[in-house]
Amino acid sequence: MTVPSGEPALFLERIEVGAGRLSCVVRLAPDAPRFTTPKLAARLREAFPDLPRHACVNEVGPCFGDVMDRTPLPHALEHLVIDLQTRAAPHDAAVYAGTTDWVDEAAGTARVQVSFTDDLAALRAFRDATRFLSDCVVGLRDIPTEEEGVQDDVRPSHIRQNGR
Ligand SMILES: [Zn+2]
Repeated sequence: MTVPSGEPALFLERIEVGAGRLSCVVRLAPDAPRFTTPKLAARLREAFPDLPRHACVNEVGPCFGDVMDRTPLPHALEHLVIDLQTRAAPHDAAVYAGTTDWVDEAAGTARVQVSFTDDLAALRAFRDATRFLSDCVVGLRDIPTEEEGVQDDVRPSHIRQNGR
């Protein structure tokens, strides 16, 4: 099964603005991958060079780069949102933090929460990050691959994170 070009691989289903924190439910397309691949991670790294250095609570190491080759897609979204917010306010000393939890992994829904200082900038970051990640996933689907799909036994047992 493939995601047809033009169909988003993931989209924001619900957004709630709380005190200093934006909470989004993101839904992956039924046949979209649940996890990043090394190829997808390389694409993300290219566009967001700071991404691997984000502080990140995970089971492998202290940085997002330690897990970004194989991490839930919504977790990658969380770090993209944080990166975009940081870029939008380069002189802001704010440190953004986030968490990602599957709501229903089989159904492809997850809750991504990220702190913010400017609600409009945060909403824009969520929208842009979702579109970018979706385009990456769909774009890679259009390229025939030979080595992907061999690591399906590697599944993080939980995905609670604190981004930078
Ligand atoms: Zn993280």
